[in-house]
Amino acid sequence: MSDGNAEEASSPGLPSGLSPGRRAADIAKLTSGQLDLLIVGGGVVGAGCALDAITRGLSVGLVEAEDWASGTSSRSTKLVHGGLRYLQMLDFRLVHEALRERDLLLGHLAPHLVHPVPVLYPLRRVALERAYVGLGVGLYDVLGRSMRHSRRLPRHKHLSKDGALRVAPGLRAQALVGAVEYYDGQVDDARFTLELVRTAVSRGAVAQNRLKVVGFVRERGRVVGAIVADRETSQEHEVRAKVVVLATGAWTEETEALAGEERGALVRPSKGVHLVLPKSSIRSSVGLILRTEKSVLFALPWGEHWVVGTTDTDWPYDKGQPLATGADIEYLLSELNSVLEHPVQRADVEAVYAGLRPLVAGVGVVRGPGEMGPLDELPKLKAPSKISREHAVSSPLPGLVVVSGGKLTTYRVMAAGTVDAAVASAGLGDAPKSRTGSEPLLGARGFCALWQQRHALSRSERVDLPTLERLLRRYGGLVTELLEIMKVDESLAAPLEGAEGYLRAEVVYAVTHEGARHIDDVLIRRTRAAMESRRLALASAPAAADLLAPLLGWDSVTKQAELDAYRQRAELEMAASLAETDEEAAALLAGARARQVHW
Ligand code: FAD
Repeated sequence: MSDGNAEEASSPGLPSGLSPGRRAADIAKLTSGQLDLLIVGGGVVGAGCALDAITRGLSVGLVEAEDWASGTSSRSTKLVHGGLRYLQMLDFRLVHEALRERDLLLGHLAPHLVHPVPVLYPLRRVALERAYVGLGVGLYDVLGRSMRHSRRLPRHKHLSKDGALRVAPGLRAQALVGAVEYYDGQVDDARFTLELVRTAVSRGAVAQNRLKVVGFVRERGRVVGAIVADRETSQEHEVRAKVVVLATGAWTEETEALAGEERGALVRPSKGVHLVLPKSSIRSSVGLILRTEKSVLFALPWGEHWVVGTTDTDWPYDKGQPLATGADIEYLLSELNSVLEHPVQRADVEAVYAGLRPLVAGVGVVRGPGEMGPLDELPKLKAPSKISREHAVSSPLPGLVVVSGGKLTTYRVMAAGTVDAAVASAGLGDAPKSRTGSEPLLGARGFCALWQQRHALSRSERVDLPTLERLLRRYGGLVTELLEIMKVDESLAAPLEGAEGYLRAEVVYAVTHEGARHIDDVLIRRTRAAMESRRLALASAPAAADLLAPLLGWDSVTKQAELDAYRQRAELEMAASLAETDEEAAALLAGARARQVHW
């Protein structure tokens, strides 16, 4: 699977499992003494910062208000990519940096979670478009091939119309005159973020979800810690740190305001919607990238499904629950259907999800501690798709560092710059530079050997080969922990009732090792059952709840409340998908919140 050298990495030193049993001890650790860094926000950027800082030898706490990756980091297009369309914006530096990261992730840091995906660019006009696209994709290959850890993604290929229809027979013959095929990386974004957290914990970071920062502790003008509210017990705690890092993505403005700082709209949340379709709905062995009037549209193979997206529109409403409307769905279907022989119907859509891009305008800025000042004014007149995906690091107050923007692919670069700024702010000048480029994620360790041995392992563990391969691609070397659970209780080796693509053991493991505390943690982010099919997820919720209840100490009333909350959220999403406008969808959400529907 990989020619990287993840195997050579040292084994983890501390237990990495995020079991419910360690919560009290972790909170005690967070609240006693002073940390070097407290990181707020458990998306890919906050998790990346935690790993960066702990591997520099700093003491680190990481708190997340909801669940790991519950914000934008579970709702992306799932590409680890240079961003072909940034070449069009002539942003070579951004593309080069992202391709370097893609290469590291594919070959070294997470070969179990990041896989090559072929993508077809159908050409609609003769000659000129082929030359233009070919040049761009060629440059993409050249930039990508200069990388040290290269996993040798195949080079791009020019295809005739017949050649393109052979790999993608579902395309309408009149919709193209030829095509260019190229490769990028694909990742399970939520599992990737979770593994970053676990890797940081294995190195000594203290990380807990369901801890929301509700205020800051300030002494003589400096931020010296934060007040965190435990969402499970409603208790508040004070966590002290030499520097607090905000990695709260679309919530940057709100969290910064807790420190009494009002810099205005630093981050402009832009809604991106994806549809999930069954594999049979598009006859193609490769993904598709289509030019749209505003941007591009991807249709990417994802297990037994297709992920199709995305949109790019402002979302000035409740950030906790961006909603896809009927208009979003119709737009995506009409763009996709413009190239398909057999149009996909609305009834074919299995699931829909929406996320918020944390777009910033004042990019690449690192300001010194106390050098407060507004970042460049947001280009409010620009469409969101025209705003750069670069990131910003700033220090609006002594003791407070804020990172926002960027994209999943470049989380490591963002984390390194952020921790550099935090080290400067905290006066930890002798801390070493970032080392995460040579720090494979936990599941990367042992993965290549297990992949080579998978046939023997399948026989010895009595797990059929396709299932074992799927588990290896989700858990990497950590699969041995899952197999252990199945050995102790054989009933857990059975499929999860209602979502048979997953095993019952995966639900148990989500709690005992992966910090899941609620049904949606398990069905949306640990497994992706709810992302793959709304219907399956609803059908599997009771079985999942039965497995979760004893592990999380739920009585029958709590279990029913958890099931109700899960169902109400699914119902809200379904109602919103019939709404025509964002305003209507936001009103439905406000109504649900007013009825105190909680999820
Ligand atoms: P988030 O993941 O949103 O994390 C912020 C976290 O902060 C949240 O979990 C939130 O709960 C927490 N938080 C907020 N307030 C508090 C508080 N008070 N206390 C504690 N915690 C708090 N990038 C790519 O590289 N490839 C792609 O294919 C791609 N596709 C995308 C498609 C879409 C539609 C979108 C929206 C984005 C896409 N991106 C992609 C970008 C990428 O997903 C984001 O840049 C990235 O996930 C942002 O991570 P983050 O950690 O900054 O934010």
